[in-house]
Amino acid sequence: AIEVRDVNKSFGKTPVLRDISVDIASGSLTALLGPSGGGKSTLLRVIAGLERPDTGTVHINDVDATVLTPQRRNVGFVFQHYAAFKHMTVFRNVAFGLEVRRRNKADIRKRVMELLELVHLDQFADRYPAQLSGGQRQRMALARALAPEPQVLLLDEPFGALDAQVRKELRTWLRRLHDEVHVTTVFVTHDQEEALDVSDSIVVLADGVVQQVGTPHDIYENPANPFVMSFLGPVT
Ligand code: ATP
Ligand code: MG
Repeated sequence: AIEVRDVNKSFGKTPVLRDISVDIASGSLTALLGPSGGGKSTLLRVIAGLERPDTGTVHINDVDATVLTPQRRNVGFVFQHYAAFKHMTVFRNVAFGLEVRRRNKADIRKRVMELLELVHLDQFADRYPAQLSGGQRQRMALARALAPEPQVLLLDEPFGALDAQVRKELRTWLRRLHDEVHVTTVFVTHDQEEALDVSDSIVVLADGVVQQVGTPHDIYENPANPFVMSFLGPVT
């Protein structure tokens, strides 16, 4: 589980996260949903340890992660514009995080091929990132983030740069992948339909404040305030 307690973060004089407290259940697929500039990426970066909160704490699986480096938190991270190693094959890109941990070669090969099968890229192991489509590249990024068996998977608009059709395929596919590996996952999106469609739980964040936390059904049927009601309102 991820427990965020009383987190505040300002950039200069501008408060970006205000008294954020939120619990994310172990094994859930949680959407962090809200409008642009609301603080979604900042909160995700605070959970990842890429950004230090001014006040407050983050516990990951009951360990106080607030003072740990991103590596020590054992989180997997995927960004919208994923930076693959261009000179490495798909196989090596996925294996990278395992090689630096010095596991033996046979184990690495087995794990990488399992992951590539999960994301349906086993046929592409010997290609280079430039020879993949955008959607395939994001699937490679997911396999790579999962390789070291992270406690938590954090996805910041992983499909944001792709066209609508591919985004739709990938979100269905993220749901299936999650049902296989059950890793606690938080994914950022500003797309209401995407959040409602795939997540177990939604955290609505706007103006640096958690507006509501609940299941897609709760949030859609019982919006906590006028903001949530209008933001989640008739999907266009
Ligand atoms: P988007 O949907 O556009 O990605 P977001 O919800 O992810 O938005 P954040 O990136 O967390 O929003 O940004 C929240 C606010 O914090 C914005 O006003 C942004 O300009 C500001 N901000 C974010 N990072 C920094 C930084 N490193 N320095 C200064 N201001 C920042
Ligand atoms: Mg963002």
